[in-house]
Amino acid sequence: MGFYREPKDVLKSKKGVLIDIDGVLLNDGKPLNGGREFLEFLKDIGKPFICITNTTIRSRKEIFYILKEYSFPVSENEILTSTLIANYYLKKKYKTLPICAYVNENVLEDLFDLNLSDDGCTAVLLGDMGDGFSRMVLNEIFVKLMNGADFYAFHKNRFWRVGNELFLDLGAFVSALEYASGIKAKIIGKPSEIIFKESLSILGLSSEEVLIIGDDFESDILGAKKLGIDGILVLTGKYTEEILKRRNFSPEYLIKNLYELL
Ligand SMILES: [Mg+2]
Repeated sequence: MGFYREPKDVLKSKKGVLIDIDGVLLNDGKPLNGGREFLEFLKDIGKPFICITNTTIRSRKEIFYILKEYSFPVSENEILTSTLIANYYLKKKYKTLPICAYVNENVLEDLFDLNLSDDGCTAVLLGDMGDGFSRMVLNEIFVKLMNGADFYAFHKNRFWRVGNELFLDLGAFVSALEYASGIKAKIIGKPSEIIFKESLSILGLSSEEVLIIGDDFESDILGAKKLGIDGILVLTGKYTEEILKRRNFSPEYLIKNLYELL
C-alpha cells in the first residue's frame, strides 16, 4: 500500500502542472477564488504549467482574453484546447489530406494547420455545433462516414447545464452517428490519451513528472491516471463531496480550493 502524501507535497514533487480551466480557474466565464493566486505561485516557484480545456465553442484567443481580463498570469501558448490538440494531431496524421470540420465557427481559427475542405473528405472532425445540429447536417456527416471517412470528435460528454436548464451535449450526436454508421469516433479531448500525451510533449516532461488539477473526476483525474499522471481533484466545479460519495468515487488527492496548494 502506498503512503498518503499531502496534495501540497505531491505538487512539490512534480516538475510541471496541467490545469483544467472550467471549474478550476473559471466558472461560467468568471474567475474562481484562488485560481489567479495559484498561477502566480507557480510562476514564482518556476514550475511550468499548461491550462487545458475541452471547450469546443471558444478559441484559444478568446480564453486568453477572458483570463487576461481577470489578471491571470498566463500567456496564449500556456493554453491548450481540444481544438488545438485536434489541429496538431490531425496534421501529424493526415498532413495535407482534406478534413471536413463540423465545428463551432469560433474555433475554426485554431485548426490553422489543416486542409479544411468538403471535397474528398479523408476524416470528419466533429465539435459542438449548438443549433447547427440538424437532421440534414447529421445525415451529411453520416454519408461521409459511410463513404470511408475516419471519425474524430472533440469529446463525448453526455449533457451540460446552464443554470437549471439541461442540454444535450456533443456525445449524444457522436453516439447517434456511431450507431448509424457502425464506426466508432476517436475522441481528442479529455479523458482521451491524445490530449494528455500532446500536453506532455509540449511541456517536454514524462507522465510521472506531471500533475493534473481538475474538477471532473472522470475526465480529468481518471483519464490522466491511465497514463500514470497523478491528479488532484478540486471541489470548486462539477463535483461536491456528496456527489463523490453517491457515485462511489474516491480521489487519491482532494482539495476544497486552490488556496490549499499555496
Ligand atoms: Mg472542468
